[in-house]
Amino acid sequence: MPHSHHSHSGQFCKHAKGLLEEVVVEAIRQGFKVYGLTEHVPRYRTEDLYPEEAGMPLNEIASQFDRFLDEAHRLKAQYAFAITLLVGLETEYITDTDLDYLDALLARHGPRIEYVVGSVHHVNGIPIDFDRPTYQKALHSLGPGTEAAATQEAFLSSYYDAQYGLLQRFRPEIIGHLDLCRLYDPGLSISNYPEAQKKMERNVLHAIEYGALFEMNAAAFRKGWDTAYPGRDVVEFILKHGGRFALSDDSHGPDAVGLNYHRLPEYLRTMGVEEVWYLKRSDVANAAGRRVQPTRLEGDWSDHVFWRGRSADD
Ligand SMILES: [Zn+2]
Ligand SMILES: [Zn+2]
Repeated sequence: MPHSHHSHSGQFCKHAKGLLEEVVVEAIRQGFKVYGLTEHVPRYRTEDLYPEEAGMPLNEIASQFDRFLDEAHRLKAQYAFAITLLVGLETEYITDTDLDYLDALLARHGPRIEYVVGSVHHVNGIPIDFDRPTYQKALHSLGPGTEAAATQEAFLSSYYDAQYGLLQRFRPEIIGHLDLCRLYDPGLSISNYPEAQKKMERNVLHAIEYGALFEMNAAAFRKGWDTAYPGRDVVEFILKHGGRFALSDDSHGPDAVGLNYHRLPEYLRTMGVEEVWYLKRSDVANAAGRRVQPTRLEGDWSDHVFWRGRSADD
């Protein structure tokens, strides 16, 4: 599909690569028509900095994000003849502080932040997607001394409660990697954890109700999954309740633009995803008061010229 709603660049994110302009030029070269630029929001406590940011002053992290917005809007205008760039951000929810600062950030920048990718990357203040040992630490931080199943249930429940808080308060247009909580355990079946499953389902239904799109995020393939995020059980639940999907590469540099998109058609087809949606600027404010609206890609998505030469059999 000629859309992606989620990306990073080394210019404004220390664990990514390349200049933002190089990301945009590569997206144009590959035939993307809509490409979302969504840098991570700043972090506000020294202990929450990413490892690569160690030693960076907090005000530098904050001004890096402001410079991202400036550059993204410059590129949006400069390349408007070739591509629609949407300028947004990807959330963090480490502690409640992040949500308070997000409120302030959105208020300060107003319409310059066109949409929000709602993501959670921490449980109990600990990153769940950095590496396996850190994930294990997050997992066991919640239920020391309890049995494995209870620990896992508490971990998943905490993740989905945080996600719910984020959805309720900010109504993100795109639900980022909905099941990142099982990144290091892709075989984990959420239905084995009934309490967590209920929370995941509650979140999905809430997101559908206010009009969000669910991200079909190809980065999971790069992490060794045989599906995109979300995995099959979650996709099934979303579809059953009329949820809509939008595509993302979640690229961290020009080399990862469109990475593993060739594997998406088969996954979409086997899951029975018949419609692909994307965000479009609009005069009408959405449920969050921002001026983008979900739009359906007309016709049969699998016939789109974008896929030619991108088939998994090539
Ligand atoms: Zn993310
Ligand atoms: Zn991301």
